[in-house]
Amino acid sequence: MPHPSPEAPLPVHTRASLREHNSFGLRAVAARLVHVASEADVRRVVDHPELGRAPKFILGGGSNIVLTRDVDALVLKVEIMGRRLLEERPDGWLIEVGAGESWHGTVAWALDNGWPGLENLALIPGSTGAAPVQNIGAYGVELKDRFHSLDAVDLVTGRTVTLDHAACRFGYRDSVFKQHLAGKSVITRVRLWCPRPWQPVLGYLDLERKMAETGNRSPDARTVFDWVCAIRRAKLPDPAVVGNAGSFFKNPVVTEEQCRDIIGRDPEIVHYPMPDGSVKLAAGWLIDACGWKGKSVGRAGVYEKQALVLVNRGGATGAEVVTLARAIQESVYGRFGIRLEPEPIIV
Ligand SMILES: Cc1cc2nc3c(=O)[nH]c(=O)nc-3n(C[C@H](O)[C@H](O)[C@H](O)COP(=O)(O)OP(=O)(O)OC[C@H]3O[C@@H](n4cnc5c(N)ncnc54)[C@H](O)[C@@H]3O)c2cc1C
Repeated sequence: MPHPSPEAPLPVHTRASLREHNSFGLRAVAARLVHVASEADVRRVVDHPELGRAPKFILGGGSNIVLTRDVDALVLKVEIMGRRLLEERPDGWLIEVGAGESWHGTVAWALDNGWPGLENLALIPGSTGAAPVQNIGAYGVELKDRFHSLDAVDLVTGRTVTLDHAACRFGYRDSVFKQHLAGKSVITRVRLWCPRPWQPVLGYLDLERKMAETGNRSPDARTVFDWVCAIRRAKLPDPAVVGNAGSFFKNPVVTEEQCRDIIGRDPEIVHYPMPDGSVKLAAGWLIDACGWKGKSVGRAGVYEKQALVLVNRGGATGAEVVTLARAIQESVYGRFGIRLEPEPIIV
């Protein structure tokens, strides 16, 4: 959408539908919504005598939220664009991307330009600005492994701050933006570091299978990108066809002792020992073991091919999705004594 000159007031859309702005396809209305296309736009909102004081909700691509109600806050739809190479060094490439750019587009753009390193994160929906929020991860790589720094505008002071790796406090599907900075700063630009020489990350089971199937044991970055896209397309529902938010629960991390106890009862349990001695369990396996795959509660259901993904079977409400999620949490807790934590933000 065209943006006004820097001096003109930002157009505020009232009673804006959010249905096409969330990948679950849930019906909800924002009391007010503004599109922000630059740092200056964010500051204009902050400095505005009335908008500045209003509670705010920051929205990227809406692929990690569950809207259970209308949103009273002022929704800031982040549309800050632009991608560029900042620096080329013998040991890597530093790139800078506007928060509104699609994440998958960023991965493809970097690869097309000969700057590999992001390919394991291909096809993750959503915006580049949201990628640090939950430290997106897939197929053995997390955003934090390629992150350099970011700029964010503080929603109270309007000041731009730069956060480096340490300041973001990345964890498993976690960062400072899900903790004390949640909803307080708009990420405007993200800088990523693609190290060279490029080293493939192929330890993930699905990628090992691809190597075995194709007989290609030293794929290039383009091949890894194609494999990741193919694996994801076969496993995950396309939100354009079936509403969903990807993995609905985080993989729980338990102590070695807890894991041994569960293995005693369920020897088949899928588990991954972690470097710190803890053990990560596959939430999808736990849900499947409780018999949820393919089941529904109202118009919300558990995806037939992957029990970790909850789907909108058509016209579901956010409340139905949350009711289904709670029922799953209760049965997993009842059987395994493990509390599953939702990954998306419940609004
Ligand atoms: C089919 C499917 C597959 C998925 N696969 C994966 C996967 O493999 N790995 C993974 O980690 N995730 C996955 N996801 C989840 C999702 O794609 C990511 O979390 C993504 O980063 C969300 O981006 P978004 O722009 O849609 O964020 P939104 O859903 O719009 O927002 C998510 C949160 O980030 C905040 N936020 C958004 N933009 C900004 C900003 N610019 N500044 C500050 N805060 C902001 C929002 O307020 C909200 O709290 C998947 C989702 C789907 C639908």
